[in-house]
Amino acid sequence: MGIKTAEEYVESLRKLNLEVYFMGERIENPVDHPAIRPHINSAAVTYQFAHDPEYEDLATAVSHLTGKKINRFTHIHQSTDDLVKKIKLLRAIGQQTGTCFQRCVGYDAMNAIYATSFEIDQKYGTEYHERFKKYLTYVQDNDLMCTGGMTDPKGDRSLPPGKQADPDLYLHVVKELEDGIVVRGAKAHQTGAVNSHEILVMPTTALRAEDKEYAVCFAVPADAEGIFYIFGRQTNDERKLTGEIDQGNAKYAIVGGEALVVFEDVFVPWERVFMYGETDFSGMLVERFASYHRQNYGACKVGVTDVLIGAAALIAEYNGTEKASHIRDKIIEMIHLTETMHTGSLASAYEGVQLPAGSYYVNTMYANTVKHNITRFIYEICRLAHDVAGGLLATLPSEQDLKHPKLGPYIEKYFKGVASVPTEHRIRICRLLENMTGGTALVESMHGAGSPQAQRVMMYREANLEQKKKLAKKLAGIED
Ligand code: SF4
Ligand code: FE
Repeated sequence: MGIKTAEEYVESLRKLNLEVYFMGERIENPVDHPAIRPHINSAAVTYQFAHDPEYEDLATAVSHLTGKKINRFTHIHQSTDDLVKKIKLLRAIGQQTGTCFQRCVGYDAMNAIYATSFEIDQKYGTEYHERFKKYLTYVQDNDLMCTGGMTDPKGDRSLPPGKQADPDLYLHVVKELEDGIVVRGAKAHQTGAVNSHEILVMPTTALRAEDKEYAVCFAVPADAEGIFYIFGRQTNDERKLTGEIDQGNAKYAIVGGEALVVFEDVFVPWERVFMYGETDFSGMLVERFASYHRQNYGACKVGVTDVLIGAAALIAEYNGTEKASHIRDKIIEMIHLTETMHTGSLASAYEGVQLPAGSYYVNTMYANTVKHNITRFIYEICRLAHDVAGGLLATLPSEQDLKHPKLGPYIEKYFKGVASVPTEHRIRICRLLENMTGGTALVESMHGAGSPQAQRVMMYREANLEQKKKLAKKLAGIED
């Protein structure tokens, strides 16, 4: 099996026997379910690009393990150029989908585990890295999509894992067998979970030495026995059942299709265990995954805001306001914020460093600052888009009314902007804007890849305040 096409990816999902629930019912056929299919379409673009001559250079790479051509989403970064290509690829896919395409979670998890397992082995003489390389070869050869399972439910945030009233609030090992381990717990908010082939599970936080059973990293097939999924709701998701126009982005939907993944006593064979008990490496693994993923946000989200800027400019044109100087100024501000985010991600790639395993890691200060900017700038960009579009974004009648024999002509007449633009075009752009700037999409910008405080902690820690104090003292003439 070589690099999959988008169609082969979708077909391969049909072979999985996933236990997925949505709105109180088990979904027998997740691939064709209207709540899930748009997310699959979005992830499929990561496969489609690998076969598109325009994007092939960004979307494929040469495996350092096998020398074969692979999809970049399964690649281990071998240079800062690889990190730059990741950023350019993510922006390009965001531009085509206008939403999350999910596959970067596994991509970042692979890179974090690859590097960290090497360092665990160096310290403890374990064999995690070799095991992971074998597993990675399987993933690359079969062009699999992995979801990254990091976020535990966490229960009472003031308590560490071992002190929770319910020990399962952090995923943990409940039994050790001769041929592997048995794990129990859950991973929350898992992007792309119901359309991935594999799950890469990592700890969620730095751990105390006594929390060994929580320091576990492993891979399982997405349909392994004991795993099931509770698919989350999204803003306006019932519109997926009632028509196309009102969805705004019917083909790709909003954000990543997140799920709660429950692990009810799941067996993991040793060859798929990449950390177990090394609590002192838990923080490193979490931080690496988080930094790789935070770097992405100035790429995928920027592709999405490229679409938003286009939509805002179009609605201004349809409204007849595009020449007003304040409208132009708001669009300029959207562009400025967008490019500011992107430069942060690129800087984080260009300033990447080589790790002991030989692979490349992002500049963590820039990765964290760019994600922190996302938590503010996306809100501001959406606010500006709402401002430019006008109030009809919130009051438009439905697609059914537009198509109604009596009401339709009135909607055509009274929702018309400039005479040359069909009313339906104006409605479609409004719906796209509504979809991209609403509840679920905004919250994902805030908390995806970690909440703002997590970035502030890292920025503070890495800022080297002592050196900055020295600089100030020198200029102020203060001698110690
Ligand atoms: Fe990829 Fe962005 Fe979605 Fe994260 S939010 S999985 S980086 S597209
Ligand atoms: Fe995300």
